[in-house]
Amino acid sequence: MAGKASAAEPPQSASSAPAGGSEAAKPRARGGHNKSHAEISGAGYAGLTAAVALAQRGWSVRLHEKRHTLGSFGAGIVMWENALRVLRAIGAFEEAAKKSFTPPFYETRMHNETVALEPFDRDPWATMTRQHLYDAMLAQARPLDIEILHDSEVVSAQPDGAVTLGSGRTIKADLVVGADGVGSNVRDSVGFAVERNKARDGLIRMIVPRCRGELGPEAFWDNVIDFWNFEPRVQRILYVPANDDDLYIGFMAPYGSDGSIVPIKLEVWLDMFPFLEPVLREAVHAPGRYDRYETTVLDAWTKGRVALVGDAAHAMTPSLAQGAACAMMNALSLAVYMEGGADNVEKRLQEWERNERPLTDRTQQRSAKLTAERALSKGEWVNDELMETMRHIPTGASADPLPGFPRRMATVP
Ligand SMILES: Cc1cc2nc3c(=O)[nH]c(=O)nc-3n(C[C@H](O)[C@H](O)[C@H](O)COP(=O)(O)OP(=O)(O)OC[C@H]3O[C@@H](n4cnc5c(N)ncnc54)[C@H](O)[C@@H]3O)c2cc1C
Repeated sequence: MAGKASAAEPPQSASSAPAGGSEAAKPRARGGHNKSHAEISGAGYAGLTAAVALAQRGWSVRLHEKRHTLGSFGAGIVMWENALRVLRAIGAFEEAAKKSFTPPFYETRMHNETVALEPFDRDPWATMTRQHLYDAMLAQARPLDIEILHDSEVVSAQPDGAVTLGSGRTIKADLVVGADGVGSNVRDSVGFAVERNKARDGLIRMIVPRCRGELGPEAFWDNVIDFWNFEPRVQRILYVPANDDDLYIGFMAPYGSDGSIVPIKLEVWLDMFPFLEPVLREAVHAPGRYDRYETTVLDAWTKGRVALVGDAAHAMTPSLAQGAACAMMNALSLAVYMEGGADNVEKRLQEWERNERPLTDRTQQRSAKLTAERALSKGEWVNDELMETMRHIPTGASADPLPGFPRRMATVP
């Protein structure tokens, strides 16, 4: 559970650097020079990417995470080419790729009839557990000039670069990055206008053993299988091998329905997906949470010295598996626009938003439409328009081919 820093209990430093003094001043960088300084709220994928990319460009960075432990919620994740390119740009690609998987096909079934079998021959992609991805990114942050604090909640920020913590301490920075997720304190305290749209569906996500022996020897158990059912009620299972051992399984159902209950009700799912019984029995005991899909659109991503990235700025439905990917792309490009230090930060933040935001806006809209229409059930979503974001070369990332990708992994016997 999230832990908050208090005045009596200062934030805990997770890096080798000291937790910093109590004065509202720029920290002195290692090496003795005053550097441009960023305070980042939230050590999720957006915050970690921004932290590493800024530190790689000479900024001193302090990263605040309100929870007691650093890590990632949400079981598994699909990383498309654009996200893999960001991982390479921050140095985490090789490590992330190690314990990842590329299923031979993305298979879509409706009432257990295959309606699409997509090999993605030209599109690099990988699945993995979220914790594995997180660890690969954190490993890049550790050796850099980044002070990582856990139990450190940012309660508010100001456009002039002031950040106030749960302890009551106020710090001044050249740049404040609000990467604190869909419930962002930075966003709400600065006063950005937010339009929030909740979808009718949501997903329970879990990691369970792959149970290959019990499921049977068929080769298709290495595929991503998107099992849709509209009758007798709307329920979908997203079956995603995350590596040789772990299965990322998602249970999609309308908000408030029996399918949205956690722990999952075995009979509700077994009824429609009896052939998945071994993994369903595992899922009954696995930790999970129902998340209703949400799209948030802001009037602006920046105000003064404050920039928002990731779900704080642009939460989206997961139909295109682009939420974390866009979070990481925008965090990397933000650092690129901050190259050269703190001069004209406000102007450069505006340029960043002007140039980088339109792609994310389009991605949010497309994803929301696919979700509203439950269109992935038709298996016809792979086209140049919908693949635009995945195939985009992120600002700050190399256009060179990703080593080892696209890859066709051997089917495990
Ligand atoms: C069902 C589902 C499936 C998805 N699948 C994919 C996928 O396959 N591929 C993909 O690219 N995207 C996917 N996404 C989207 C992705 O999960 C999010 O877009 C991504 O996690 C956003 O990262 P973030 O760092 O912006 O926010 P978060 O992951 O929410 O991280 C925010 C961090 O900030 C911390 N924090 C919050 N408030 C404070 C505070 N005040 N002070 C300090 N710390 C704070 C939190 O504890 C957390 O660690 C999916 C989303 C959903 C709902």
